[in-house]
Amino acid sequence: MIYELPKLPYANEALAPIISAETVHYHFGKHEQAYIDNLNKLIHATEFEDMSLEEIIRTSGGALFNNASQAWNHIFYFFGLSPDGGGEPAGALRLAIEDEFDSIDKFKKEFEESGVKLFGSGWVWLVKDKEGKLSILSGSNAFNPLTKDLIPIMTFDVWEHAYYLDYQNRRADYLHRLWDIVDWDLIESRYLK
Ligand code: MN
Repeated sequence: MIYELPKLPYANEALAPIISAETVHYHFGKHEQAYIDNLNKLIHATEFEDMSLEEIIRTSGGALFNNASQAWNHIFYFFGLSPDGGGEPAGALRLAIEDEFDSIDKFKKEFEESGVKLFGSGWVWLVKDKEGKLSILSGSNAFNPLTKDLIPIMTFDVWEHAYYLDYQNRRADYLHRLWDIVDWDLIESRYLK
């Protein structure tokens, strides 16, 4: 199978000023395209060619894992954002977050802190275990919770390329502002799956 860069459901400029058109252009249009191109090269004529992307992430290592996981993570990140996003989660996801973190504000604060504390490049995640229990998890480089048998619900990219053009060194500001474009309806649909 040959992977292709999916088309985002919004224009490059739609997330501004929280994420600029320039950042979407480079981050999704160039960085993500490169991960997908590398993934295609690395699986060509190997046992991985016929696997799903999730299976590749669970079973590979080294350069293939890095590129496969980065390809998956960026799609998960960008498709979880929307110019119509923001506000607060509703329904079952809201109840589950309040149950685990006491309040939506406490959850957001803990999530941001987890991203700020991560040294170097990586990702911060909201995940669900097999019993449906939520937790926050961060990991370096191309980390993906599928490798720990956890179900990804939401992620914020904390690689510098995600925020440097718009926020320079201010990672905490970037993480704090992302809440205004989180597509909670989509995040809840992932939680309910
Ligand atoms: Mn990235």
